Order: sequence, then structure tokens, then C-alpha cells
Amino acid sequence: MTYDEMNECLDALRKNNNLRTIPAVRHEGRFVIADGRKMLNLSSNDYLGLASDRSLKEEFADSISCADCRFGSTSSRLLTGNYEVMNECENLLARMYGTESALVFDSGYHANSGILPAISGPSTLILADKLVHASIIDGLQLSRGKVMRFRHNDFQHAESLIERYAESFNDVIIVTESIFSMDGDVTDLKRLVAIKNKYREADVKLYVDEAHAFGVRGRRGLGVCEEQGVTGDVDFIVGTFGKAVNSVGAFVACNETAATYLVNKARTLIFTTALPPVCWQWTLFVLRRMADFGERRNRLKELWPRFKSIDGHVASHIIPVIVGSSENAVRKAFELRQNGFYVLPVRPPSVPEGTSRLRISLTAGIEDEEMYRLITLLKEV
Ligand SMILES: *Cc1c(COP(=O)(O)O)cnc(C)c1O
Repeated sequence: MTYDEMNECLDALRKNNNLRTIPAVRHEGRFVIADGRKMLNLSSNDYLGLASDRSLKEEFADSISCADCRFGSTSSRLLTGNYEVMNECENLLARMYGTESALVFDSGYHANSGILPAISGPSTLILADKLVHASIIDGLQLSRGKVMRFRHNDFQHAESLIERYAESFNDVIIVTESIFSMDGDVTDLKRLVAIKNKYREADVKLYVDEAHAFGVRGRRGLGVCEEQGVTGDVDFIVGTFGKAVNSVGAFVACNETAATYLVNKARTLIFTTALPPVCWQWTLFVLRRMADFGERRNRLKELWPRFKSIDGHVASHIIPVIVGSSENAVRKAFELRQNGFYVLPVRPPSVPEGTSRLRISLTAGIEDEEMYRLITLLKEV
């Protein structure tokens, strides 16, 4: 790209209301302050409201000593970057899921872009939902497998692809999310498990990204897999720590063969510096309390159905308010901010052309009165 080409590209984005910038915000508990206005933050992924929980932070701070704290891991875990707390985290995750192993990555982006290329070879057929997250798409692009996409949550389509093509491949991986980032709809994982069992001879594995469900769904917060009772049937359960857990990193729960294989083959694990031990300590601290956050999960469960009066399809704490053009989305998000709600427009390429939207993500800390005002306002804008 020449600089002229870059400028042309930016001009086109500007013209279509699709130019992105990094918003300047200050944080104050559940609120953000931008352009001199204090607004309720409805754009974070802090679903359980842990980010503004002062007593939790203090309890954590009291549990660690500065002398023993490490703010950098110094290298990849395969060199000298491995610490006890990392093994503790992974052992706990494996115990929580009842899987043989769990392996932590530096982020969900690292996990998806590293695991998928590692577990697929030239004789692998990968079937991915049309709306999977960018980190999965990048993983698919790095993969040597044959990638096909099925229409969003259309498992009949996925099945027809297996029937038609699986014969020519050694194995099949079905890749999806449990709660979709931009639509908030929940995947029928039981149905996928049934497909896996139906096509045994095709050697079908399931890969489910629970980024938006980990910590939020299921009695113990393990996600939609727990909620639908399929934890033991999904080969790769990916969860992230950057959202409900209010930390950083991601994990995959899988069997021991897969975990050992990934330690040897996942380039985003091998060739990157491990997260600082202090981050793992915080993650472990939160994970140990995961089962106790039931009240917060219940609060979310109480909040999101109220949006059914705006859109009957709402199925989780991620509420898409689809408005069509990017221009509309920008304008309506602006109006909401004017009224004290920090909402941002989501535009192409994050979502398909013509489906620009406001994406409202609820957190357990939202109060009834705030919710009432927001819903009233949404009906007006
Ligand atoms: C946020 C997200 C990721 C990326 O996770 P990070 O830890 O933020 O890199 C991956 N998959 C999905 C579905 C996500 O929503």
C-alpha cells in the first residue's frame, strides 16, 4: 500500500460513516466519562460487573505481596516463562470442566488463530458458521484445511456439507460460537452433538468459542456447554478471560492428546511471551469464585428478557438493535450517549453490510431505574 492508497481507503471509510477511531474515555466505576458527559457503560464486556467491584479488588490486593509479584513472565512458557500459578489455573479449569486438560493462551485472539491452524491438516474439512468472530476467521485463513461456511445457525446446511464432502476428508471440525458476539443469539449445541454422533465415520470434532458465555451462562458459569449439558461432548471448548472474568487470556478445555499436541504445534502459544504471572493470579482468584457469582448471573437473566419488548429475538445479555445503515447507527448511538448511555455503533466489516446496529451489552450491575430509562429511550430513537 502506498500512502496515497491508504488515504484513499480512509476517505472511502469516512464517506460511508465507517471510519473507526479509538474513543477517548475515562472510567469511573460503572460509568465512562467522554466529551464531558458521564454515561452508563453499555459497551463493555464486563458482564458480571467485576471491573467496578472494589471489595473484590481489595481482597485480591491483600492476597498478594508486592515482593513476590511478577509483572512480566520474561519469555514463552516453553522457555522460562512458566510459573506455578499457570499450572494451577489450568488444573482448576480442567477440573471445572471435567476434561483431561486445559491450556491457556494469551488471549482469545491467540487461541482461535493458533489452535485452528494447528488441529487441521490438508485432509481436514472445516465447517464454520457464517458469523464467527474475526479471530476464528484469521485462524481459518492460516489453516491448511478445506474451509466451508454454513449459513448462520443453519445446521441442516452444515449437515448437507458433511454428506456431500466429508467422504473426501480424514476428519471434520465444526466451528461455532455459543453466544454470537454481534447478535447475542444462543447456539443449539445439543443439535451439533447429535450431528457429531450421527456422522461418526466422518470423525467430526466440535470447536465452540464461549467468549461471551463463559462466566455468564450455566449454573457454575461454565457457559452454554454447561447449560445445555454437553460439556463432555465438545472436543474444544474455548473461553476467554477478557470479558466476564475481567482479566486477560483465554483457555481451551480439551483432552490430553489435543493439549499436548497444541503445546508442540500452536504457534501463538509457542512463539509469544506468556502473560504476566500477576494476571494469572487475578484470573485464578476470579476462577476460584466463579461458582459463587450465581447471583450476578441471575441478575443478568432478569435483565435481558426485558428487551423482548423491543425485539422478540433477544436471547442473551448481548442486545443487538439493528438499524440498517451505518449513518443511522452512528446517529442513534450519538443520541443515546446524549442521554447518558454509552453505546457505540457496530458497522461493517464487524457486521454484514446493511445491518449496522447498536450493540448493548448488559452487566449485572445495572439498576432497574437505568434499565427502564434505557428501554423507554430505545423505543423513541
Ligand atoms: C472477544 C472475542 C474473542 C477474542 O478474545 P480476546 O481475549 O479479546 O482476544 C474471540 N472470540 C469471540 C467470539 C470473541 O467475542
